[in-house]
Amino acid sequence: MSKTMYVPIFKGEGRLEYEERPVPQIEQPGQVLVKIEACGICGTDLNILAVPPAHKATPNIIIGHEGVGVVEAVGPSVTGLRPGDRVVIAPRLTCGQCQYCRRGLNNQCTHYSTIGTTIDGAFAPYLVAPQSALYKISATVPRDDAAFFEPLSCVVGSVGRAPIQAGDNVAIIGAGPMGLLFAQIYRLLGAGRIIVADISPYRLGFAEEMGIDVVLNPAQVDLPQAVQEITGLGADVVVDAVGNQMATAIKLARRGGQVILFGLRPHDNPPVNQYTITRYDLTIHGTFVGLNPFEQTIQLLESRRLRLSQLITHRVPLSELAQGVELMRSGQGMKVLVDLNLQD
Ligand SMILES: [Zn+2]
Ligand SMILES: [Zn+2]
Repeated sequence: MSKTMYVPIFKGEGRLEYEERPVPQIEQPGQVLVKIEACGICGTDLNILAVPPAHKATPNIIIGHEGVGVVEAVGPSVTGLRPGDRVVIAPRLTCGQCQYCRRGLNNQCTHYSTIGTTIDGAFAPYLVAPQSALYKISATVPRDDAAFFEPLSCVVGSVGRAPIQAGDNVAIIGAGPMGLLFAQIYRLLGAGRIIVADISPYRLGFAEEMGIDVVLNPAQVDLPQAVQEITGLGADVVVDAVGNQMATAIKLARRGGQVILFGLRPHDNPPVNQYTITRYDLTIHGTFVGLNPFEQTIQLLESRRLRLSQLITHRVPLSELAQGVELMRSGQGMKVLVDLNLQD
């Protein structure tokens, strides 16, 4: 094994620079060395690399948190993982000590660190992580499906907050990778009609090809009126996968319906009609990364009932991470995967 690796380093202010770095070593007994096979580019990575940034990350680290890989070596106190096991990453390392962790709300941990945001991540040939951040996944799950573990876990955690009945109609605002993951999961959960809205013709075309029941472009139709006509009363569940669409979301929900706020846009502050929420008995769920959705996410992936890799439109080598980010940002790619086996 070569002792160094040539990796993209996040330098702050949207910059990525390639450097020769030492291959990380196991330094604590509970750590695991993982050989990364692939790592998806996430909206969070786009936010980290935006100027000004829309998501904080520590300069001089390797980013990337949607990794899948194979265990290369384990520390002496690691149990349940062995060299050769395929693993995926739950990137948020929580402290276990703060009041939120002690209340069982570890997604609100106040002393967390995150693989790929505050410590080195998976846009690299090797990663060292504590065993607690790694989940074993059957080798029968195709690598490119397994690469969706982290974003899928966020969606699994999110949909769990808003109980749905078989046959409920669901409207999803935003037809990017996350919106389309919601659509796939809701289809599996037995939703009635699934409506997806986006202003990007590319994304709407993609959603249509995936077999989404109804795709709507709010630039072309009156979205609340269209959803009303399709559903009769309005959607039972509405998902804002964008992060600034609450005002629209509450107009799409039926009376007594539920709204899931999922997207993160820290700089946006949209005005919302509070009266509508009260008068029509809406339930609004803010949902953030989910509360331990990981075991169910593994089971879902291993069930092979989702066709996640159909969201991957491009695969790039590690040397072309910046181009991959641009592809996603341009809206001309859906999910872009950094494939560590691809040579540049
Ligand atoms: Zn992600
Ligand atoms: Zn904590």
